[in-house]
Amino acid sequence: MPLQTTEAIVIGGHNLGEADRIIPFFTRKLGKVRAVARGARRVRSRYGGALELFTLGQLVFFEWPNRTLHKINEFSVIEPFAELKADLGRLGRGAYLVELAGASVEEEEPNEEIFLLLRDALALLVLHDEPRLLRAFEIRLLRIVGYLLELYRCLVCRSVLEHSLKPAISPTRGGLICSRCLSRAPDNLPISLESLEFLRSVLPGRLEQSLTLPLAHPHTTNLQEVLRVCITHFFGKRLRSVAFLSLVE
Ligand SMILES: [Zn+2]
Repeated sequence: MPLQTTEAIVIGGHNLGEADRIIPFFTRKLGKVRAVARGARRVRSRYGGALELFTLGQLVFFEWPNRTLHKINEFSVIEPFAELKADLGRLGRGAYLVELAGASVEEEEPNEEIFLLLRDALALLVLHDEPRLLRAFEIRLLRIVGYLLELYRCLVCRSVLEHSLKPAISPTRGGLICSRCLSRAPDNLPISLESLEFLRSVLPGRLEQSLTLPLAHPHTTNLQEVLRVCITHFFGKRLRSVAFLSLVE
């Protein structure tokens, strides 16, 4: 039974039996991993509050070969991100980030890029609780999983978008549609030039640079709606935390 050590973020948790918890982690080395924390609900549990949602730590676990549920040996906290649990808004947005990251990979499918994106986004959410961070997270995540790749040329006629024309996004085609080709993509969603420019600008560089890019109302709402439909289309189901997010956003 090999022992694995990796940086990991707690992305959920539920009770098992009388005293145990099953904790899903997004790990740096091994992707999404589920492991049992024996005795985690006992008063004098050795885990204390370490296994709470969002906590970043160093995870050591016994890997059961050919099984998807493993056993936690040790979890030492690096950063609890406790501020994210202090108000409902941050809690909702943080829960959305971890759910989206978790939904984007299969169990034990390594993806360090998504791990780092999630880790950075949670750290930034502590300091900057605002919509641009979520939109930047969404478009970057969609890019990593290979969706919404075309933001410069129309996916139907391949022409470069002219600024005088109103652009749209087609969730089924996964990118930009020019105004001349709207009838060829009936699911098109109008996107403002400001929203489109935000998406293009946010892809290179670091995540925190998204907080310096201009994106004012009503473009924030426009972009939120466009990305939400794209995400729902891509993931094939409504994410549970989206409903909660709409109450707090
Ligand atoms: Zn076109």
